[in-house]
Amino acid sequence: MPHVITQSCCSDGSCVFACPVNCIHPSPDEPGFATAEMLFIDPDACVDCGACVSACPVGAIAPDSRLSAEQLPFVEINAGFYPKREGKLPPTSKLAPVPDAPMVHARGGGPLRVAIVGSGPAAMYAADELLTQSGVQVNVFEKLPTPYGLARAGVAPDHQATKQVTSLFDRIAARRDFRFYLNVEVGSDLTHDELLDHHHAVLYAVGAPTDKRLDVEGMSLPVASTATEFVAWYNGHPDFADLAVDLSGERVIVVGNGNVALDVARILTAEPDTLARTDIADHALAALRESRVREVVIAARRGPAASAFTLPELIGLTARCDVVLDANDHQRVREDLAEATDDLTRRKLEILSKLGDSTAPVTGPRIRLAYNLTPRRVLGAQRVTGVEFGVTGTDEVVALDAGTVLTSIGYRGMPVRGLPFDEAAGVVPNDGGRVLDGDDPVPGSYVAGWIKRGPTGFIGTNKSCAAQTVHTLVADYNAGLLPDPSHKPSALDRFVRGRAPEVVDAAGWRAIDAAEVARGRGERPRVKFTAVEEMLRVAASVPAEPMHRRLLSGLLR
Ligand code: NAP
Repeated sequence: MPHVITQSCCSDGSCVFACPVNCIHPSPDEPGFATAEMLFIDPDACVDCGACVSACPVGAIAPDSRLSAEQLPFVEINAGFYPKREGKLPPTSKLAPVPDAPMVHARGGGPLRVAIVGSGPAAMYAADELLTQSGVQVNVFEKLPTPYGLARAGVAPDHQATKQVTSLFDRIAARRDFRFYLNVEVGSDLTHDELLDHHHAVLYAVGAPTDKRLDVEGMSLPVASTATEFVAWYNGHPDFADLAVDLSGERVIVVGNGNVALDVARILTAEPDTLARTDIADHALAALRESRVREVVIAARRGPAASAFTLPELIGLTARCDVVLDANDHQRVREDLAEATDDLTRRKLEILSKLGDSTAPVTGPRIRLAYNLTPRRVLGAQRVTGVEFGVTGTDEVVALDAGTVLTSIGYRGMPVRGLPFDEAAGVVPNDGGRVLDGDDPVPGSYVAGWIKRGPTGFIGTNKSCAAQTVHTLVADYNAGLLPDPSHKPSALDRFVRGRAPEVVDAAGWRAIDAAEVARGRGERPRVKFTAVEEMLRVAASVPAEPMHRRLLSGLLR
């Protein structure tokens, strides 16, 4: 009964280190870890102990006897990662090498104090790594009253298993030396230099909050929007609650075919009653109930073998949705399949080759994967009526009607005030997480996650990314490159409250969290608040810690 890793794998590698026989690969110390689409259990070496199941933060692992029909393809996918051999391998006693914890050399002047800006996966994994040591204090600053970034506002609502990673983040946030300063915007409420007056280092894990813009005529028409905004809208991000979304047309075109495009297409074609059991924003659920969308076309500029979506997500999509190709694209799949050498690409193409034909009668909302379509312009006068594409590599032009166009061509980082920025790559230039200005380190400044390496990878990829940054930061601290801050730890609380009186602390977040869960009445995981004012009202309902207790806890840090 070997265990099997399935679709929601986040690749953070926790299972790798929990496995007593080192049968899960690639591990974070092996090539391919950050780029592999998931982790794989070797069925011959697995001893069925279940240690990986407990370690996985997103419930992606199960014994092969307990898989749903949708998960069965993962049995072969896990096994397929390992070379064929005769007989069962004996369990190995060799453990995956656990990366060294970043040893902090204590200083007389007090703990190592780090401000982390942002509270998404990279921020929380960085906090986790820092707090493996005693004598470290972490203060997390987030501009929204709610933490966890894309784990809350990016992961699709029908991927609740993936959202379980927030339970891990809750445990990290509950550590004694961790503080939340939510609803505080670094760059406007506080400056970088002010943070450095209170900390040895500032680590930015601010993600890639905007999107790449498709530079074609017509993108400024109403209802030509971006998938990233649409994702934020259906996930209840307060800044996007009022996004103009028009689902009155029969077709939506999504440009680009990464995992975000698949998320968007699934949500647009899902049965609303199914979504009603998730934490999708109420405004989105209401709009989807009224939707007249019958087809979502996911248009890629390259061919099937170059599809940007991952194999696990394609399996999930085709298991749950009606997905079709037109005859030209079936032909392209056959041609690519004949030439495919890479195993994952071949598996993707095999799945595509078995999809239905777009000429089949439409029985319900469906998704069409379309290839070799390079967008030339968005059509329409007052509003969007379609997209004109060039057939990639030819002079041929095709136009597709649509009521809404969403570009899904990737996220993009934004400049961080006071730090250098690489415009072309959309990242803060860095060496192993240490911010660089030309060749020179910017004292006390670090980055992790998408603002460090660009918008690629999965939630768990941020674990090894953040660990690298923390190792760099601690090495600088130990080398005496991070001078002691000018203020005592106890001064921070008062300073932040002076600048951002409506700061939300961990207790405030717990109150918001509990209220959202209660609104779900056991029928939904939670019903999100989508307005900052509502969140602040709930957070303020928690009796404030008496001043003397706040001062005491500040002094005890
Ligand atoms: P992505 O994977 O980088 O895909 C971007 C897509 O946009 C590609 O198809 C790309 O085509 C296309 N594109 C780029 N520029 C274009 C242009 N000018 N015109 C037309 N097409 C263009 O981005 P994403 O979907 O936003 O995902 C971002 C990251 O988050 C990925 O690592 C993804 O795996 C991850 N993610 C994971 C999950 C999950 O695991 N469930 C869910 C969501 C996101 P080319 O390939 O031709 O450049």
